[in-house]
Parts: sequence; C-alpha cells; structure tokens
Amino acid sequence: MTTSGFEIATNLTEASIMAALASTDQHRVPTENLFAQSLLDNIRDGVIFVDGNNRIQTWNQATEIMTGISSGHAIGQPISPSIFNLTDADGKEVSDQECPFVACIRNGKKQQSEFRIVGRSGREVKAEFNIVPIRTYDGTICGAVILIQDSSVQLDLKRQLKDLYAMSMLDPLTQVANRSEFERVLDEYVRAHNLTDFECSLIICDIDFFKQINDNYGHNVGDQALVAFAQLLKKFVRGQDVVARYGGEEFVILCANCNIDAAVERAEEIRSTLTKTPQQMLNGKCITASFGVSQLKRSDSATDFFVRADQGLLNAKETGRNRVVAACSSDDSPITLQDAETKSLAGVKWRKQKGQPLFCEEFKTSTPLPVVIESLRGYILEMGAEVRKVEPDYASVKIQATDPNSNVKGSFIVDVELTEAVDEDQNLVGERMATFIRITIRGGKNGWFFSNSSELAPAVMTELRRYLMITDESARLTVAPAATEPSQR
Ligand code: GH3
Ligand code: MG
Ligand code: MG
Repeated sequence: MTTSGFEIATNLTEASIMAALASTDQHRVPTENLFAQSLLDNIRDGVIFVDGNNRIQTWNQATEIMTGISSGHAIGQPISPSIFNLTDADGKEVSDQECPFVACIRNGKKQQSEFRIVGRSGREVKAEFNIVPIRTYDGTICGAVILIQDSSVQLDLKRQLKDLYAMSMLDPLTQVANRSEFERVLDEYVRAHNLTDFECSLIICDIDFFKQINDNYGHNVGDQALVAFAQLLKKFVRGQDVVARYGGEEFVILCANCNIDAAVERAEEIRSTLTKTPQQMLNGKCITASFGVSQLKRSDSATDFFVRADQGLLNAKETGRNRVVAACSSDDSPITLQDAETKSLAGVKWRKQKGQPLFCEEFKTSTPLPVVIESLRGYILEMGAEVRKVEPDYASVKIQATDPNSNVKGSFIVDVELTEAVDEDQNLVGERMATFIRITIRGGKNGWFFSNSSELAPAVMTELRRYLMITDESARLTVAPAATEPSQR
C-alpha cells in the first residue's frame, strides 16, 4: 500500500476492508487503514473523498448524519450540489452546473464556503465546506477531499455559554443583576478606585411596608411591584452603572464616576418619581422606598463601602421612611496597594487568590479553548455541580462529596480559570497558541474535615483533569502546597 493520501482514502470504504479481510494472501487489514477508518467514523466533521471522475469514494458517518444519506447510497454516485440540496448562505439553490466540487477538481483551487444542507429528514444544517484538490506526485489532480463542519454546533455552544452566563448574573424575576453579579462589580470598582481616581457611589434602597403589599394584594402582585420598581431604577442608571436586586425588596445601584452629592441627588430623584408613579397592580396606588447612600473612600473595603450605605438606609427607615440618608465617614487613611492579579510561572496573569486553597494547579494544553469549555460544561452537568459564578473565562462551582470512611458529607468549591495565550515554549516558526488552565480547590461545607481527608481533594482534582483531558504530567506548570490551616469557607 502506498502512502499517498488519496490512495489511503480510496482504500477506506467498507468494501475495501471486507475485501482485504477476505483476501487469502493478506488475512489482516492494513493497520493504517483501520486507524484512518476509525478516525473518519469518529470525527464530528463530514469527510467525503471524490475521485478524478467526480465519483464519491468515501462518505463518513458524520456526513451520513448531516445529510441523512447512507454511505451505501452515496458511494459510487457522481458528486453534485443536488445530493445535499445545497443552498448558499442566503438560501439560494446551488445548481449542478455551478458545482463547487467539480470546479475544484477541474481548476485545482481550494475553496472554503458556507453552505446550507437540507438533509432527507428536512433538517437544515448550516455548514462550512472546505474543498481541497488532491494531486498525485506528478501534480495531476486525481480527486478532492470535502470537509464539512457543522457551524450550528459552534453557534449552539456559544449560545449555551451566553445563556449560562446571563442566567448566572441576572435576577430571574426582575431581570436586573443579581447579588453575586453586584458583588463581582463592587469588587472591581473598589479595585479600580484603589488604583486610579475612579469615583464611585452606592445607593441602597428598600421598598417601604412591602410586607403589607403581599398581605393585602397577594404575593403575585408583590412580584409585579418588584418588577415595576426595578424598571424604574433602570431608567435612572447610566452606562457603567449597575442596578441589582440584593435580596427580597432591597435593591442597589452602583454609580460609576459619581460622587456622593450626585448620588444623593439621583436617589432623591428616584424617591420623588416613585411617590408620583401610580402602580397599576395596586389599583393606582403609589409605593415609597427608603434610600441610603455612600461614596467609596480610599481606605474602604467593599464591605466598608456597603455597610456605610446600609447604615444610611437604616437611618432612613428609623426616621420615618420615604427619605434619602447619606452616610459619611471621617476615615480617609491611605490604603496599601495590593496586586490585582497573581502572575504564574507561565507568564499568564490569573486573578488574585482568596485564602489558602487545598489545591491549586496550573496546566497547559494544546486543546483549543472552546473544546475545554465544552468539556467543563460536561463536567458540571454530569457531576450535578452547583454553578456559583460563570464568566467568559472563569467558572466557580460547588461539588458535593461524602467521605467514604466516615460518611461525613460536605462540599468543595472548585474554581476553573481559562485563558488562551502564546505558548512561549514552542520552538516553532510563528506563534502557537495554548490553553492555560488554573484549577483551585477549596473546602466548602465541612472544609476543615475535608482538608484533612487525604483522598477526597486529590480525587476531585483527578476527576476534573480527566474531564478537561489534561493527561500529560508535563503539562503541569506550578503546584501550590496543600493547605495546612482549616479552610476559611
Ligand atoms: P420596611 O418598610 O421596614 O422595609 O418594611 P417591609 O414590610 O418592607 O419589610 P419586611 O422585611 O418586614 O418585609 C419584606 C417582605 O418582602 C417579606 C417577604 O415575604 C417579602 N418578599 C421577599 N422577597 C419577595 C419576593 O420575591 N416576592 C414577593 N412577593 N415578596 C417578597
Ligand atoms: Mg422593605
Ligand atoms: Mg427589606
């Protein structure tokens, strides 16, 4: 058997394998053929080989799935757009006269185009076609390879990630940011403020006597009032501001580039508008709310900033409700600047670690980032993990675990950070990208017990590595020592 790509290809049909099995002088199928056949049958992309007479020689399983046409029906047929019911990206039918496959074999030019296939089942598949001419050693064109990539899979993955991301940051009832998204942005603003002169204020507001709305009109009407209140708040936010539902009938507005005077003015505007807005679900009655306002100071932690506004709110409630109270602080001491991120040996910048983890390992893999993300999704779904936070390059999940010896139940918090960067170890011409992964495992509930349970945390790490297909030990970059102190969570 020769090693010419096309000759391997033409040997790949089931018939040729059967023939090889049946042959008396060669009782075994050449191993290369089996590898190639297995590859063709297991990849997600459609692969078609066409010979110099424009006849189909190979039609792999992915092509069968996309088209609904079996290889038995396709092999030996002339290749043509009508086999696929091929249309261009705008939905216009591609005629057999303008067949891109025959054109490639005729003119020897590679072609990459997006087409739509309508399979026998009527399912439309949006796909990217790569049509590549095959030449013999003397340069004669002897056929073509057609690679078909189902673009809807990519789109689906992107949409699912987007949905997951939206789900993780929005309050389902009011569709404003949820508490965890607020806390994320709050941390970001505090960090930005510590590094620059970024001014930021916080408004916390709470609907007055909301319990009475539930009691008098029912929970459903209460929900509608919450939605209406959130909508009103949204009307008062600008570009970088964030409005979030902190919990129950309590909302927050992070006002970017805004000092306390402007924030108080804004809160006052909201308060007064609310008192003049008849609520349909309350038979035209108006509701009121109380407001606390604070401005971020140089010495503030996120908690200090929040607590001051909350004290303002408390004060507003205590002094009669339906009012705005600004909190002041004399504490203006300078802060120590801390690194916003930690830098690993690989030169990748990771976010700052919170506390001492049980495990923190970094890996490098050549697996493309979207594939790693998809594997991570699989892990989350199959482990039944609770998603705590998702960002485009970061996921934090909670995994329930039981110690097999003592039957103690608890949880681990697993943080996975992902980034794509140039692999500087590659001695290749041109840049080569690699996916860098940092996995941090902390003890969640019963963290102290779990940090001392010798088998559990490594088992969680091993399992996650298996899902993310990190198999090569040499891909490990740095390893943080296991914690010697009880976990903080
Ligand atoms: P105050 O003026 O002191 O804030 O009084 P309040 O009645 O607004 O506050 P309280 O904390 O006594 O009651 C808040 C109520 O909000 C109790 C809770 O049942 C209700 N609540 C919390 N979340 C929701 C929700 O999602 N939907 C509805 N309908 N009610 C909710
Ligand atoms: Mg209230
Ligand atoms: Mg409340």
